[in-house]
Amino acid sequence: MSELKRILQESIAHDGPMALDTFMAVSLSHSRHGYYMTRDPFGVKGDFVTAPEISQMFGELIGLWAAEVWMMLGAPDKVHLVELGPGRGTLMADALRAARVSNEFSSALQVHLVETSPVLQQMQKDKLAQAPVPVTWHTSLDTVPEGPAIFIANEFFDCLPVRHYVKTPEGWRQRLVGLDAQSDLSFGLAADPEPLLTMDAPDGAVLELSPASQLFMGQVAGRVAKGQAAALIIDYGYAETGYGETLQALRAHQSVSPLACPGEADLTAHVDFSSLTRAAQVAGADVFGPVSQGEWLLRLGIAQRADALKKRASEEQSQAIELALARLVTERVGDMPGMGLLFKALAVLPRGASVPPGFARES
Ligand code: SAH
Repeated sequence: MSELKRILQESIAHDGPMALDTFMAVSLSHSRHGYYMTRDPFGVKGDFVTAPEISQMFGELIGLWAAEVWMMLGAPDKVHLVELGPGRGTLMADALRAARVSNEFSSALQVHLVETSPVLQQMQKDKLAQAPVPVTWHTSLDTVPEGPAIFIANEFFDCLPVRHYVKTPEGWRQRLVGLDAQSDLSFGLAADPEPLLTMDAPDGAVLELSPASQLFMGQVAGRVAKGQAAALIIDYGYAETGYGETLQALRAHQSVSPLACPGEADLTAHVDFSSLTRAAQVAGADVFGPVSQGEWLLRLGIAQRADALKKRASEEQSQAIELALARLVTERVGDMPGMGLLFKALAVLPRGASVPPGFARES
């Protein structure tokens, strides 16, 4: 049994069942045994692969996007390039290399990485040791200085905790993590329905909410709304809020029960882009998208970038570039799922800003 499972069982035995978002937060971020705190989860040997780990083209295009957005914001002398949940630091390394196309932009940059995991912070430090710009680490947004900024978040919001409410004949009851007769972790429902949740839905319908995501988005968008700042969010998820549950646990590329091995499997949920949009608008910012990742990357010229890379590549490397391109922009690659449609990009800008690259006014 995992050490974290024992800690959770003790806590529930002592304090009673816990909300799903508490369980998810502890599983991922417990200071000693949390999933992200103890390991490098990426790559073929890890639990999942992200877009920057598939191809350098992804981070490069984000670097060029940031350079154009910086121009749109009036090319401030100093700009904070802030990445939320930077993983291995690959996206930032590729973005900074591409940003060198503009000397003015490169010399304005001050990089801030918001990362809770000490293991991943160390990997990022190694990856960015030669970075030509100052880089500072933070464990929360609070210590990132105010001022002109571009925020980047790839596959960050999907690991923020979600909460579930289930429709029963008595009303909407919150899903809790408790203990079964053998003292093993098990799902249950709160005894009392939520008095303020009065929507009609078939029994068994599930409402999945992520208050932590809304809060985070509100903080970022609040900074954007003050002017000379922008945010780019890329993640997998859905465009319209609806009923249904998407919480999943992945271990070594296999799906497992979210309760099976807390701290040893990645827990994520699909991102509700309409709820992020509302949170950003309430904070006073304008939102563009979501647009599918495939369409967004193609609009930014990823096919041309792939062609340029192939010109200098061996036959084997060319095939790898083609495959990476297909994984990033299409819905399916053979019998493997691609990221092109399920993943989406959303941009947040100050009110009245013009359309950022890759987005459309009506998208
Ligand atoms: N953006 C990277 C990694 C995505 S995985 C990529 O695309 O490859 C999620 C990342 O978010 C990890 O680096 C994880 O440690 C970090 N993370 C998770 N919860 C966080 C939180 N509350 N604050 C800051 N970073 C967090």
